[in-house]
Amino acid sequence: MTDTITAAASQSLLPTYARYPLTLVKGEGSWLWDDKGNKYLDFMSGIAVTNLGHAPKRIKEALVKQLDELWHVSNLFQIPNQADAAKLLTDNSCGDAVFFCNSGAEANEAAIKLTRRYQQLVAKNGRYEIITFEQSFHGRTLATLTATGQAKVKEGFAPLPEGFKTVPYNQIGALEEAVSDVTAAIMLELVQAEGGVHPADAAYIKQVVELCEREGILLIVDEIQTGIGRTGKLFAYEHYGIEPDIFTLAKGLGSGFPVGAMVAKEKLREGFTAGSHGSTFGGTPIATAVVKATLETIVGDGLSARAAEQGAYLIGQLREKLADAPFVQEVRGIGLIVGIQCAGPVANVLTEAQQRGLLVISAGPNVVRLLPNLLVTHEEIDEAVSLLAELLQASG
Ligand SMILES: *Cc1c(COP(=O)(O)O)cnc(C)c1O
Repeated sequence: MTDTITAAASQSLLPTYARYPLTLVKGEGSWLWDDKGNKYLDFMSGIAVTNLGHAPKRIKEALVKQLDELWHVSNLFQIPNQADAAKLLTDNSCGDAVFFCNSGAEANEAAIKLTRRYQQLVAKNGRYEIITFEQSFHGRTLATLTATGQAKVKEGFAPLPEGFKTVPYNQIGALEEAVSDVTAAIMLELVQAEGGVHPADAAYIKQVVELCEREGILLIVDEIQTGIGRTGKLFAYEHYGIEPDIFTLAKGLGSGFPVGAMVAKEKLREGFTAGSHGSTFGGTPIATAVVKATLETIVGDGLSARAAEQGAYLIGQLREKLADAPFVQEVRGIGLIVGIQCAGPVANVLTEAQQRGLLVISAGPNVVRLLPNLLVTHEEIDEAVSLLAELLQASG
């Protein structure tokens, strides 16, 4: 009966995902179980979403408490959880004002809209163009897929919105050449995650910030995958000693509950007025109860520092155990976002790992990406590294 229902349900879905024939039914900490009772060590965390592991107790308690009290009211009313969650974000970042939404794409969409509206109505300079980077990923709405520097996400969706330009990453000359008197913002990831786990050069980012300051251009940092402790700081921009004008969050922000946020500097506040942007579900009492509990846990328990330590251990172990694997070219990453650059396609490595009880993901065809939760233990890392070493030694 269950099988019939599952088959019928999948026939009723649009084919937007190449799904594995695997049905996960239970999760706890770093572990997942399938419908046949097999156990998996989860080193992808729903793509950097379950940063506190599966079913984290403290977050669940906050969620259940809120479910007992109130699920939803319109943003036409005061929502104390939303105000508290926003304050936690501004108290713990360089930002001053928050807009809540439901996903990463929506957070970036809000950043794009705020940029244009600020430049056109507040700074009154007519600037509208957003410069983004090759191999970037910013989402699937029409504006954010246009911002994304990968042809495959744009195919068949013409006409795309105007006002975007894409240049090579980590090359200041190309960026300087692209800037003009219509440039409104530069939008980037500090670690290109979907694009292959490529961290930005520190010297380059310093030059980007100088360019922005010199030309009156806003800097938008997409922290949707890098944020919420993953890189070993609460936000990746902290590694670079910079303060973006806007940064965007989603993925780890809700520990698995869907929520996104855009955080902006004070001067951008007047870019929006009542009615200029909105979202029915943005920042509901439930969503923001989860955001509050997530941020209190990550900040209160020092989990960003823990991610830095565990990440250093993971990268060290991978480099040691993969040093003589001919298929492996490089291990790179920062904190608990780690890429293993291979000489060829890694799809088989992912499926073999899965069959052996380890869930990992790729970042482009030739990179194995590891995104364990921030509470991952040395024992769990050892287990994952030893299996990956076995599989990668035998590959290529
Ligand atoms: C996942 C991701 C997005 C899109 O987030 P959605 O919640 O899927 O819309 C945008 N930018 C980056 C860097 C991401 O990793």
